[in-house]
Amino acid sequence: MNKDRLVQGLKQLNLPCDEQIMLRFEQFHEILDEYNRHMDLTAVLDEDERVDRHDLDSAAVLTAVTIPNGASAIDVGTGAGFPGIPILILRPDLHLTLLDAQQKRCLFLKNAVSRMGLHAEIIHARAEDAGRNPQLREQFDFAFSRAVASMGVLQELMLPLVRIGGKAVAWKGPKGLEELDSAKRAAFLLGGTFMEPVSVEIPERPDWTHLLLVTEKVKGTPKAYPRKAGTPSKKPLA
Ligand code: SAM
Repeated sequence: MNKDRLVQGLKQLNLPCDEQIMLRFEQFHEILDEYNRHMDLTAVLDEDERVDRHDLDSAAVLTAVTIPNGASAIDVGTGAGFPGIPILILRPDLHLTLLDAQQKRCLFLKNAVSRMGLHAEIIHARAEDAGRNPQLREQFDFAFSRAVASMGVLQELMLPLVRIGGKAVAWKGPKGLEELDSAKRAAFLLGGTFMEPVSVEIPERPDWTHLLLVTEKVKGTPKAYPRKAGTPSKKPLA
């Protein structure tokens, strides 16, 4: 891991980078490398890009969205743990759930979280099924999701899991704003309303456009949603 780049990046984002935090980031990179040798966990990036694209991009939400101490959050389609793990390393006070449809990724995450001495719930499930499970439905203060689906589809994957008054945060690139218009009706149907998009700057990457699109949950999600697994992406609400 390029430790200096991560320290500089966290400092520029005004985020903490004490010894414990840096140790956990180093451990996480090591465990990722270990698993990546025999499974296809993340695209292999050069060291600088990995810090910027994974760690700092995930962490940048903490500069843009106020997340109260002890809040609950679920990372929907977390894959190898992004954005969830970097957020948890920086905010171990959060009650984090990492959800993914792929079992091998969940096994990796269980191992990684325990080796770093952190606590998170790891759930192997489709978001559509989780959204209908009474133990998870409307239970979270925040839902996060990066690189999983278009904004319209994401509303159906994320909003059923968020309590009224909570927020769903989607990580998007430059095309995020185009997706926003077509997702407004989906958000409305699911009980959400869009807030102003937030643009986040990744240190050393002035040419990257990274947007956080936040939906606030203003009323309960009707029982009809989410539809059965696979339907949100096959027939997006429009
Ligand atoms: N969020 C991670 C990131 O930014 O690196 C992983 C992105 S990866 C492209 C998409 C992940 O979403 C995969 O691990 C996949 O299994 C998961 N996924 C896709 N659809 C899902 C669904 N309906 N429910 C749960 N997980 C889903």
